Amino acid sequence: MKILTTISDVRETVKSWRAEGLSVGLVPTMGYLHEGHKSLIDRAVAENDRVVVSVFVNPMQFGPTEDLASYPRDLDADARLCEAAGASVIFHPEPEEMYTDGFCSFVDMTGLTQALCGLSRPVHFRGVCTVVSKLFNIVGPDRAYFGEKDAQQLAVVKRMVKDLNMPLTIVGCPIIREADGLAKSSRNTYLSEEGRKEAVILSKSIFLGKKMIEDGERSAAKVTTAMRELINTQPMAEIDYVELVDVNTMKSIEKIEGEILCAIAVKIGDEARLIDNFMMTV
Ligand code: AMP
Repeated sequence: MKILTTISDVRETVKSWRAEGLSVGLVPTMGYLHEGHKSLIDRAVAENDRVVVSVFVNPMQFGPTEDLASYPRDLDADARLCEAAGASVIFHPEPEEMYTDGFCSFVDMTGLTQALCGLSRPVHFRGVCTVVSKLFNIVGPDRAYFGEKDAQQLAVVKRMVKDLNMPLTIVGCPIIREADGLAKSSRNTYLSEEGRKEAVILSKSIFLGKKMIEDGERSAAKVTTAMRELINTQPMAEIDYVELVDVNTMKSIEKIEGEILCAIAVKIGDEARLIDNFMMTV
């Protein structure tokens, strides 16, 4: 497995694969890889002849007060995980390689990006859409793999690909969790021992909401209220949002029907802002 840092090296490598008629999968990540990322890489390896994993902490998707500087990084461990999983290449560019002097072109989306995480992270999805578009243009994959862990991001990327006629398939992959239910995340490393114990309230509230709907509850307010009450039992937990939305529009719903997304974002003290969700067709 090779680690490539320049766009031209990635282009040359993919060109040589294409000359052999090989298919190409892409797994975009910010690194500090865990089992969640590995599930995406495994799926990509199973479905493509060659797989590129990008490891890039994208400055453009972080707001000025967010955790860009402290975001965890460990390229050696990432390389070991990628190699063991059967990836062909890691693309690990410096920010200057991706954003050259004078950079001023962006991919922006209205609607879907102006709800949930878009409200508390106003520049986030512009950064995501721009970097993901660039990665698609650099690698030119047949398929790209995204986790349902970031359900809004998955919906946004699918919409962007459809709206802008990008010639690839987006594959969504299920959320991988710790044994106690907490969704795996690179940001879980920010948690203290106490914070880690309290963070399990996210998945507990997700499982509670899901069970209420499975048992027949159709009032969005009743479900989100019960979830909020459960989260608020933890002293460190501070809710950013607990929402039930239409998965295609990200608009809030009152009655639970159709393709729904229940998404939450919760801060655990000053340690970490974590997200979780479930999707259902009712
Ligand atoms: P990140 O490195 O956090 O930007 O994540 C890169 C990709 O891995 C995104 O598509 C995420 O949705 C996905 N991912 C992160 N954590 C998980 C998880 N616990 N289960 C499944 N996919 C995940």
